[in-house]
Amino acid sequence: MPTYQYACTACGHEFEAIQSFSDDSLTECPECKGEIRKVYTAVGVVFKGSGFYKTDSATSNTAKKSPAAEAPKPAPAPKAD
Ligand SMILES: [Zn+2]
Repeated sequence: MPTYQYACTACGHEFEAIQSFSDDSLTECPECKGEIRKVYTAVGVVFKGSGFYKTDSATSNTAKKSPAAEAPKPAPAPKAD
């Protein structure tokens, strides 16, 4: 289950909340009942949505050809007849 980090905009209190995907985001500071905002960390973003895992970038990576891989064709040798 992902852990979300929140920071209060009123008192500066920071805390983490473990929530399932279906849970609503928290909006209230447990300390002062002030407004809080969600702090996105590198870890948290990865869990946004199931089945979302980087399939796009993986596909485009393999499909991307390196230009250096294709060597130019050598000129045909003249026929010695
Ligand atoms: Zn607060």
